[in-house]
Amino acid sequence: MSDPQSPLQQADLEWQDGVPSSTLFDDIYFNRAGGVAETRHVFLNANALEQRFSEASGAPFVVAETGFGTGLNFLCCRALWLQQAPAEQQLHYISCEKYPLSAADLRQALSNFSEFSDGAKQLLKSYPQPVAGAYTLVFDAGRILLTLLFGDALETLPRLDARVDTWFLDGFAPARNPELWNEQLFSEIARLSRPGSTFATFTAAGVVRRGLQEVGFEVIKRPGFGRKREMLSGRMTLAPFDATPADTPIWFQRPAAAITDEPIVVIGAGIAGASTAYALASQGYRVIVLERHAAPAMEGSGNPQGALYAKLPASPTLHSHFHLSGLIHTSALLATLREEHPELGQCCGVLQLALTDKEAERQQQVIEQAAYPDSLVRAVDAATASELAGVTTGEGGLFFPTAGWIAPARLCELLLSHPNIECHYNTPVETLERRSGRWHLGNSGFSSEQVVVCCASQAVRFDPLSQLPLKPIRGQTSQASAPAGLPPLKTVVCGEGYISPPLNGEYCFGASFVLHDSNDQVRQEEHQHNLDILQRTLPKLGQALQQQSLEGKVAFRCSTPDYLPLAGAVADHDAFIETYAKLRDDARWPFTARPPLQRGLFVNVGHGSKGLLSGPICGQLIAALISGAPLPLAADQVRILNPARFMVKNLIRKTL
Ligand code: SAM
Repeated sequence: MSDPQSPLQQADLEWQDGVPSSTLFDDIYFNRAGGVAETRHVFLNANALEQRFSEASGAPFVVAETGFGTGLNFLCCRALWLQQAPAEQQLHYISCEKYPLSAADLRQALSNFSEFSDGAKQLLKSYPQPVAGAYTLVFDAGRILLTLLFGDALETLPRLDARVDTWFLDGFAPARNPELWNEQLFSEIARLSRPGSTFATFTAAGVVRRGLQEVGFEVIKRPGFGRKREMLSGRMTLAPFDATPADTPIWFQRPAAAITDEPIVVIGAGIAGASTAYALASQGYRVIVLERHAAPAMEGSGNPQGALYAKLPASPTLHSHFHLSGLIHTSALLATLREEHPELGQCCGVLQLALTDKEAERQQQVIEQAAYPDSLVRAVDAATASELAGVTTGEGGLFFPTAGWIAPARLCELLLSHPNIECHYNTPVETLERRSGRWHLGNSGFSSEQVVVCCASQAVRFDPLSQLPLKPIRGQTSQASAPAGLPPLKTVVCGEGYISPPLNGEYCFGASFVLHDSNDQVRQEEHQHNLDILQRTLPKLGQALQQQSLEGKVAFRCSTPDYLPLAGAVADHDAFIETYAKLRDDARWPFTARPPLQRGLFVNVGHGSKGLLSGPICGQLIAALISGAPLPLAADQVRILNPARFMVKNLIRKTL
C-alpha cells in the first residue's frame, strides 16, 4: 500500500470545446452532448434521488462516488439536495480521486456550468492540495459535507468507515481503466453499502454487471444517455454487512449510533465545544452548550489570534497526516466563512523560519523527501521570506501559502450561532453522573442521554473521565501596539514562537511553555521570554517591541502523552481493562467482546496548542460517531485519536 500522505500525480487534461479529457485514460470527464443532462439521467434519476432526497430523515444521506474528476456530479447532486431535502437534513458526499485536477483546471472545467456557480465557488475555495488523504469540507453552512478521498480508490475505500445509501460509479470506462473495476472494488462497495442501497453507472460492461451481482446487488440494464445504448443500475439485496474497516482492532470499534430527539449536551464553548456543537447541529440535532464563563472562548481558545498551520515532517506519519486533514478542514471553513465575516482571520500564508542548522536541515528534508506540492509548502530564502513577511526575517524557511491566522473567539461565536444551538453561559457543571439511563450534569440542572465533554483539562474533574491522561501546560501570550516606524507584518511567522500580522493595530505573539504551574497571573518574565524568542525570529520587530508596554493572557494548553487529542467515545475504564486484560500476555489474542463504553459519553479534548488544527475536524468526528454517519477521516487516523489508546498501549507494555 502506498504512503497515505504521498503527493499525487495530478490529472493531465486536453480540452476540446470546453470539455476536458484525460490524456492518461484517453477518456472524457463528461459528455459533450451535455454533462449536466448526463449526470441527471445516469446518476440522479437512475438512483431515484429526487424522491429519496425529499423523504430523507434521520442520519445523513450518504452518496459515494468513484472518480471525483471535475466535481460536476457533486455539484448536480448538491443542487438537487438543496432543492428537495428537508432543511434540517444533511447530505454526506464521499468521492475518491486518484488523479485530482489542478485548481486551475477545476476552475476552467466548472466555468462551463453557470447554474452551479455558487457551489463551484465553495468548492474552489475549499479544494484540497493534491496530497493523498481524506479531507472533509463543509458546504452550505453545514447542510452538506464533502469527503474527498485522494488516492487510489482501491487503497482509500478500505480505510473508509461509512454506510452508503447510493453509489455513483464513474471511474472512466472499464476498458480504459481495468485496474479500477475489479473484485476488490466490488467487495469494498458491498462492505460499505446499507441494505437496500442503490448504485448507478454509465457503463453496461459485463465485468461491472457480474462483479456487482456477485457481491449481492440486483442489477438491471436501462437506456443509457445520448448515444450510449445501455447503462446499469441496481440495489443491494443482502442483509447488513459489517461496515467496519477490516483491520480495525475490536477494542477500537465505534459505538452504536444514537437515535435521539432530545438535545445533546456539550460542555465547554471553546474551539472544541463550538466545533462539536456546530457539527451536531448541522446534522439536525438540537444542542445545548453549557459554559462556565460568561462568553465563549475564554480559556485556551481565548487569544486574539491563533496561527493556523501544520508542522509537516520529512517522513509523513499518521500523526502528520491527521494534522494535514485538520489543516485542510479548518482552512476550508475559514475560507468560506470569511466571505461574510472577513474579521474571522486571514489566509495570509505562514512562514516557518529555519533558525538553527538542525531546523534548516529538517526543512530541506521535508522539501526533498516528502515532496509536498508547492501549493501546500515551498522553501524560500531569506530575501523571499522578508519580502513575503513585509519585515526583515534574517533567515529563510518554509512558506505555507494557504495557511494563516484565525480569531478563535470569533470562530466560536459564528459556529455557536447555528439555530439548533442553545448556549447557557455562567453555567458551570460540577459533576457528571449516570442515573436511570441519563447523564446528570450536577449544578447545571440539565441532564441528557448524550454528552460531549469539551472542557480541556477540566474534563478529569468528572468521575467517569478521571483516568484520562490530560495535563494542563501554562502558556502566556503577549500583545503590543504595532510600532509606528515599521511596516506591518504580512504573514504569520513562526520560529521558536509565532506572531501574526497586527489585528486592530495590535500584535499578538508568544507563547511561554511552563510545566507544573497552575498560576494564571500574567508574568513579566514570560513577556520577556516572548520578546526574546520574537527577537531571534524577527530581529527588527522584536527590537522595536522591547520598548513597548505589553498586555498578556495566560491559558492552559490541554496536553496528552502523545500530543494528539482524545476524540471519541469514552470507555468504562475498569471494565475495559478487564475485558482486554489478555493483551498483557498476547497482543494478538482473538478477542470477541466489543469495547465496554460509557453509553452516550464522548470527549473532544487534548488539543494542546493545536486546537485550530484539530478541534473542528474532531467535532465532525464526534458528530459522526454519535449519529452513525461516515467518519470524516480515514479509519487509521481515527484510531490514533481514540481515548482508550493509552489503556491498550499500557496493557501491551504491562504497565497497567
Ligand atoms: N465524476 C466526475 C465528474 O463529475 O466530473 C467524472 C469522473 S471521470 C469520468 C473519472 C475519474 O475517475 C477521473 O477523475 C479519474 O482520475 C478517476 N479515477 C480513475 N481511476 C481511479 C482510481 N483507481 N481511484 C480513484 N479515482 C480514479
